[in-house]
Amino acid sequence: MDKRVEILIDNLKKRNISGEYFESLEDAKEWLVDSIPKGVIIGVGNSQTLKKMNISTILLEKGHVVYDKTLSKTREEAKTIKKKALLSDWYLTGTNGISLDGAIVNIDHSGNRAAAMIYGPDRVIIIIGTNKIENSLEEAIYRARNVAAPQNAKRAGLNPPCVEANKCVDCRSDDRVCNNILIIEGQVDKNRMTVVIVEEDIGF
Ligand code: SF4
Repeated sequence: MDKRVEILIDNLKKRNISGEYFESLEDAKEWLVDSIPKGVIIGVGNSQTLKKMNISTILLEKGHVVYDKTLSKTREEAKTIKKKALLSDWYLTGTNGISLDGAIVNIDHSGNRAAAMIYGPDRVIIIIGTNKIENSLEEAIYRARNVAAPQNAKRAGLNPPCVEANKCVDCRSDDRVCNNILIIEGQVDKNRMTVVIVEEDIGF
């Protein structure tokens, strides 16, 4: 394991957040699927990393109830799924940046993902590639706004100025994707949140 990952896991521990490390996304997926108890209701945040894992399909096949808005057919259905996911037992998500000292930075358009990470689900699993680790909180926020936000906007079919500029210009666009910027500094319950770190460049 890389020294930086070791440092990050140590620092997460000091914030009541556990860390797990895997060399590949495939190994992380195996661990995740085996860790989720039978019958658990799962909320899934919109994440390229989770999409790459095909996690919702796998968990549905295992008989779990899965609330993943990307599987909805209409806007109304997506809204209902997002609300239900807030009260799921487990919540799976990616994030947009993490500082070496363990602060987790999330940019969120409507706020459903950030809300579920903060409160509601009993267990929250955040899966990141090592490309999301930054030296400082400032750099993690910079990453979220200048690297993640433009790509997330494009993926969602939105067109705030950062899509063309490829950097944040602190816009007031109707398509603004960073209406919410959440920094998770720690957890009350040390068994609630786990950051799964994968030795790969994945997600935005
Ligand atoms: S403020 Fe606007 S330009 Fe900056 S990241 Fe958010 S959406 Fe993009």
